[in-house]
Amino acid sequence: MELIDGNKIAATIIAELKAEVATSTGRKPCIALVRVGDDPASVSYVTKKEKACAEIGITSRLIFPAVTISQDELFATIDQLNTDDTVDGILVQSPLPKHINEIAVFRRIAAHKDVDGFHTMNLGKLAQEDDTGFVACTPAGIMELLQRSGVNLTGKHVVVLGRSLIVGKPAGLLALQRKPWANATVTICHSQTTNLAAITKQADILIAAIGKAEFVTADMVKPGAVVIDVGVNRVPDDTKKSGFRLTGDVHFPTVSPSVSKITPVPGGVGPMTVAMLMKNTVKAYRQNLASTTA
Ligand code: NAP
Repeated sequence: MELIDGNKIAATIIAELKAEVATSTGRKPCIALVRVGDDPASVSYVTKKEKACAEIGITSRLIFPAVTISQDELFATIDQLNTDDTVDGILVQSPLPKHINEIAVFRRIAAHKDVDGFHTMNLGKLAQEDDTGFVACTPAGIMELLQRSGVNLTGKHVVVLGRSLIVGKPAGLLALQRKPWANATVTICHSQTTNLAAITKQADILIAAIGKAEFVTADMVKPGAVVIDVGVNRVPDDTKKSGFRLTGDVHFPTVSPSVSKITPVPGGVGPMTVAMLMKNTVKAYRQNLASTTA
């Protein structure tokens, strides 16, 4: 069994981006990080993104409205960023408070600044295999992890557990693309799928993104399969100071011995999500510069 080291691969991508940004003269890439309220998980995610920006040389503009901000006020903030030529990318950290419609917020961000890849236009471009769009960071990170670990999906059966807009659906679309390293046969499963274990057992590559701690057990996985564990779940653990530990959607101790490659949690997909956000920001910057000098 080989462990796919997301920390190491993400560090390589960050170093590549840093070298690329260092060659640019004039204005550096800029991302606006919008965090509504101070939910501890969101604070931690945004801090990680801010640190990655600093390491690469991307300017991060931090906007932290109170949790009581109305949807219209948040729209006004986004509108301002949309028309600001010095801002290349806009990220609104989810989850948002319940009184704000998340999909409406994703759509409000100008598609060419949507470095999270959740805008209708970018999801459409993904379906059309148009590379000018932005792909959601977690599924893009999964594909990059696989490619940089030498896992070619062509002709392989990829089974995705989960059909969310953020992970499952785009991951399936990416694996399906008519591109080198993709070209997989894809099955996407969800909570209404029957005979789940019979399907997951057929997977050459199993991508688990359901948000259920240690749900995937050894009897659900084909020996020799590649397993990508996207899940991030907190489970109570009295031995930890925090009172909990982080675990994935895969029961790592029993699944890992029989697979060919597997990602750990933490240290697998998580760091790749941040690295791909940085990659999307540098792409938005390049596209922005090209459009203003054209
Ligand atoms: P989500 O929006 O809650 O979607 C979960 C999906 O799993 C849904 O499609 C759901 O089916 C399906 N599902 C739930 N229970 C199932 C079951 N028993 N059998 C089969 N399918 C089941 O979650 P998400 O945003 O995609 O996130 C999934 C996990 O990935 C979470 O743990 C999240 O924290 C983690 N995550 C990690 C990163 C990272 O950077 N590492 C990024 C994003 C998410 P229905 O559609 O039928 O409800």
